[in-house]
Amino acid sequence: MEYTSMNESSLQAELELLRNEYKKAGARGLKLDMSRGVQGEDQLAITEDMLRVLDKNDNFKAENGIDCRNYGLLDGIPEVKRIFAQMLEIPANNIIVCGNSSLNIMYDTVARSMLHGVAGTGKPWLGQKVKFLCPVPGYDRHFAICESFGIELINVPMKNDGPDMDMVEELVSSDESIKGIWCVPKYSNPDGIVYSDEVIKRFAALKPAASDFRIFWDNAYVVHALYGEPAVQISLFDELKKNGAEDMLYIFASTSKISFPGSGIAVIAASDANIEFIKNIMKVQTIGHDKLNQLRHARYFGSLDGIIKHMEKHASLIRPKFECVLEALEREFTGKGIASWTKPQGGYFISLNLLPGTAKRTYQLMSDIGVKITPAGATYPYGKDPEDSNLRLAPTYPPLSELSEAINLLCLCAKIACIEKILAK
Ligand code: PLP
Repeated sequence: MEYTSMNESSLQAELELLRNEYKKAGARGLKLDMSRGVQGEDQLAITEDMLRVLDKNDNFKAENGIDCRNYGLLDGIPEVKRIFAQMLEIPANNIIVCGNSSLNIMYDTVARSMLHGVAGTGKPWLGQKVKFLCPVPGYDRHFAICESFGIELINVPMKNDGPDMDMVEELVSSDESIKGIWCVPKYSNPDGIVYSDEVIKRFAALKPAASDFRIFWDNAYVVHALYGEPAVQISLFDELKKNGAEDMLYIFASTSKISFPGSGIAVIAASDANIEFIKNIMKVQTIGHDKLNQLRHARYFGSLDGIIKHMEKHASLIRPKFECVLEALEREFTGKGIASWTKPQGGYFISLNLLPGTAKRTYQLMSDIGVKITPAGATYPYGKDPEDSNLRLAPTYPPLSELSEAINLLCLCAKIACIEKILAK
């Protein structure tokens, strides 16, 4: 029966039962962690052989003859650029291969804009009113980058096929202080949403009031399907190009969840003008990134095809974890009228929406018995979920047995929080 239709005494009785269970769990001194989207140890192990592809007999040369042990090649070795070009559907010349973190590139991209402006205008954002649109729920670290620069963040609700484009179009075309929007177009963090082609076309047709407006297209999960081949989308770069507006786009990606989060490779992809502008500043920062790591990746994966095959191995390890969480949510919440959740086909997260006003309480109850989840509010700018409803579940890291325990406890805590809320009304 739905909790909201139960009378007070039945709810009190249910709450007492749940609280007894909670007390028992608390006494067990648990230490479980389902807080961040990181690879499990079994996933890390499947890429270990990559560390052995370069041995002392190697000539360490990229296909263009460059010695990867030495300085040079600011934008990366050709074979890696080619793989990312296939993955992101953009010419290899429009790619810069950087260090191990795409988040680092995103930070630098905002910082560069603050100090130097963007290609074409060169007018620093620093000193101007700067706002970014943030589809919500979204990725906390995107918001943190902007918050660290004092950029004002505006929530845009996510729909089933991407951000609310009516709102995006309206805001972007009317407010010239809006300089950017964060997007995770495939298997979004945390909803797992795949932007539709219609949404992508609407992005391509944006007419921003600000001439230095940029779309931050963080394709972190571009090949991260849980079931079969990754979802197919039209290319935003190609669509923008048709409109002569390709300078509006920065694409980011990395192999953090393909090879190693601690030692992968990350790229930025953009128009000719943007790449030239970025390189001119980047060349002052560094003579080149870690080309031996690039070479290891190129030798190990060979091509996009090699990556897709590798992602199937990842999927087979994490699929049971996603299914374990989904089964628990289904079993514990169906018919209770207190929760809805996403059923992602890829990416790293499941997004859970509870009765408004109960996410923080659920998080607190979890913390108190030693189960870590992503803090309530983290999926919104400034850590403020206006409904206090969304929780991001990250099933990949804990072993299946721990995950199963953690998710059962999450359901228990959410039920307690929701009954308390209903009774308080
Ligand atoms: N972008 C999104 C959407 C993510 O979810 C994550 C990690 O969870 C990252 C970027 C981090 O990327 P990287 O490891 O390349 O810095």
